Amino acid sequence: MARNFPLERYRNIGIIAHIDAGKTTTTERILFYTGKTYRLGNVDEGNTVTDWMVQERERGITIVSAAVTAEWKGYQINIIDTPGHIDFTAEVQRSLRVLDGGVVVFDSVQGVEPQSETVWRQADRYNVPRICFANKMDRIGASFERTVESIRQRLGANAIPMQLAIGSESNFKGVVDLLTMQAIYYEDELGKQETYAEIPAELKSAAEEARAAMVEKIAELDDDLTVKFLEGEELSIDELKAALRKGILENRATAVFTGSSLKNKGVQQVLDAVIDYLPSPLDIPAVNGNNPDTGEEITRPAEDDAPMSALVFKIVTDPYVGRLAYFRVYSGKLASGTMVYNSVKGKKERIGRLIRMYADRREDIQEVLAGDIAAVLGLKESFTGDTLCDAAQPITLEAITFPEPVISVA
Ligand code: GDP
Repeated sequence: MARNFPLERYRNIGIIAHIDAGKTTTTERILFYTGKTYRLGNVDEGNTVTDWMVQERERGITIVSAAVTAEWKGYQINIIDTPGHIDFTAEVQRSLRVLDGGVVVFDSVQGVEPQSETVWRQADRYNVPRICFANKMDRIGASFERTVESIRQRLGANAIPMQLAIGSESNFKGVVDLLTMQAIYYEDELGKQETYAEIPAELKSAAEEARAAMVEKIAELDDDLTVKFLEGEELSIDELKAALRKGILENRATAVFTGSSLKNKGVQQVLDAVIDYLPSPLDIPAVNGNNPDTGEEITRPAEDDAPMSALVFKIVTDPYVGRLAYFRVYSGKLASGTMVYNSVKGKKERIGRLIRMYADRREDIQEVLAGDIAAVLGLKESFTGDTLCDAAQPITLEAITFPEPVISVA
């Protein structure tokens, strides 16, 4: 079976950050936790989590992948690499186009820096729904509140803090989850263990205040909830989550979380938030393209039985397997061994091995369905930005003219 999960349980996301904010460390932690989830089903292999991490470091496959697939709580998360050096280049535009949502990582000491502004504006331009992670809370001078404030001031974002930090700097212990009003601590050095506890007495009133502010901001995102809120009705956690999700998907708000990826604190809550608040391929508008012969505009829904359309977004020469073309299927399906039409080059090519990249392994798959991301071996004529489609129903997904005007952000 090509689809491990129903499409609404897919998340195609990017970890977006300027250099040094902690993108690599955060991605590594995500792969660590999701890898552990995967391992739970494979106890026979006898690998402990630590062994796996060491092996991974030695092999170093994952972080260099243009897209890596992870599983978290019954969801498939495809993490698309976004270039760290953010510039108005075709490469950045393309990676933002291929993903459906982003986790933007900030350094909690620096808050919003000029480079994070550039990243943010680009994501705005492509309407990428976002959640934020205020990282490096263990560092001297780190402040969650200040980081949230700078997201509001400098980015003009409707930033909604979902947590309250417990302690800071070397004393940073965990967070209060303002939705459930539980304290979450991370116990051992690998951060495997999350402990849910009562909010410490000295933080109770601050947490209540922070929750009230959060509820008010979320209620504003939905007309029905606004009415209920103004009438003094209690809003349930499910209602709040649904309204926040809607606000984020419509780019009217962003949710802010905090932690320290280096110290394994907070990343699991970010993964939960990816599931709760970022879109599935069914939540984004159907893809548009043009008929390469007539120029006629075509819309393709994210459905497996629609005509096939896929975009090649990155070519990587993998030292083990060779020339890999990473692509996203927007509609229809793409099967190993079949012929496809590259509508940009005007050439037919045969699809060789189809490969899904996980943190610790590669998996051969037979077909890739609408909304999914994978890599293909054996394409010789296809390059970044090319559309693969059915020759009988051709489409070109991307205008071929690059680059767009350079806008510099000081
Ligand atoms: P990238 O350039 O955004 O990919 O950032 P990296 O993940 O490579 O991190 C940049 C530097 O910040 C490295 O030295 C990391 O060890 C460090 N770093 C990342 N996350 C944290 C954190 O949560 N706390 C602290 N103190 N350092 C961190």
